[in-house]
Amino acid sequence: MIFDDDLLERCISCGFCLPACPTYSLTADESSSPRGRITLMRALETGQLEPDDPTLVEQSSFCLGCRACEPVCPAGVQYGDLLEQWRDHQWQGRNRPVLARLLMAVVARPWLLRLQGLVRRHARTKVRGRTYSLMLGCVERGLYPRVSRAALRLAPGMQAPRAQGCCGALHAHNGSSVQGAEMAEALGKRLPGTIVTTAGGCAAHLSAHLGRDRVKEFSEWLVEMGAWPQGEVRVDGRRARVALQDSCHLRNGMGVTRQPRELIKAVAEYVELPGAGGCCGAAGTYSLLRGADSRKVLAPKLAEIEAARVDFVVVVNPGCLRQLEQGLRRSGSRVKAVHLAELLTWAEE
Ligand code: SF4
Ligand code: SF4
Repeated sequence: MIFDDDLLERCISCGFCLPACPTYSLTADESSSPRGRITLMRALETGQLEPDDPTLVEQSSFCLGCRACEPVCPAGVQYGDLLEQWRDHQWQGRNRPVLARLLMAVVARPWLLRLQGLVRRHARTKVRGRTYSLMLGCVERGLYPRVSRAALRLAPGMQAPRAQGCCGALHAHNGSSVQGAEMAEALGKRLPGTIVTTAGGCAAHLSAHLGRDRVKEFSEWLVEMGAWPQGEVRVDGRRARVALQDSCHLRNGMGVTRQPRELIKAVAEYVELPGAGGCCGAAGTYSLLRGADSRKVLAPKLAEIEAARVDFVVVVNPGCLRQLEQGLRRSGSRVKAVHLAELLTWAEE
């Protein structure tokens, strides 16, 4: 058995999920939709299709894993779980993309992650009891160490232990969900107290394995603690105009949408983008494995950002930060992508 029967049978083929799906929007092809992919999964389960069937191979990789199909589904289909089970079966050994294998091997070694901290100065503190631990995500440690430093400035009582590994989301999304779950459990043992993370994708994966109460995304935590930012972000003598790009897994997996918006409104003029809740095309390793498709998903978002005449677009996940930063740079835009934690520290300066 490849899939949980209960999960696979839940779909009633109503099609409500089709308009929410970014890959279906690109192709208008049923097999690139959530319903079409569930039909493919059923064909794989019953043996109607072999795992090397070209449509199965293509669709298991073309899906962004954004889970935009979940909140709109009247039958409660847990598509994210189905996709993990599909890739567990489909992406074994040499069938897993080489780059994904390489990244998984790197982040599974905590000592390699610690080495990044010698080169890039992310936040770090000693462990002081069991209260709140800031998780240092793999991507953030390597590319955006300033984000964890900003988070610690806003929450000086939080601790950021150096000795922590990867949460395992990368593994879970790339055909190795058992290892992904084990890594989440191991990180839960290393980090004392409530785990707070500035990466929406990591928050969703960790909370699925450690429990919703044990894990908080940073904006969610700030609002819960009543830690409202002081001051204002100004540009050219006026209040800055700021938009938000939701993190897919934070929005669709954890239902956190209100908190980052409220925090931005506290320090700037908030501008809602029409497609703020839609995937930006980063989707974990997707932007590396399927660059052309990733850029097609991003293109309408870049146009929306330009049309909104904002100064900054805020993200709550490092993968989205990289995707928007690169996209805005390529298009010659004056708009800057920035993590929420950074924006809030600017208000306090
Ligand atoms: S909305 Fe849910 S039940 Fe309807 S087709 Fe999509 S996945 Fe199936
Ligand atoms: S996870 Fe995203 S891309 Fe994949 S089927 Fe669902 S909505 Fe479409």
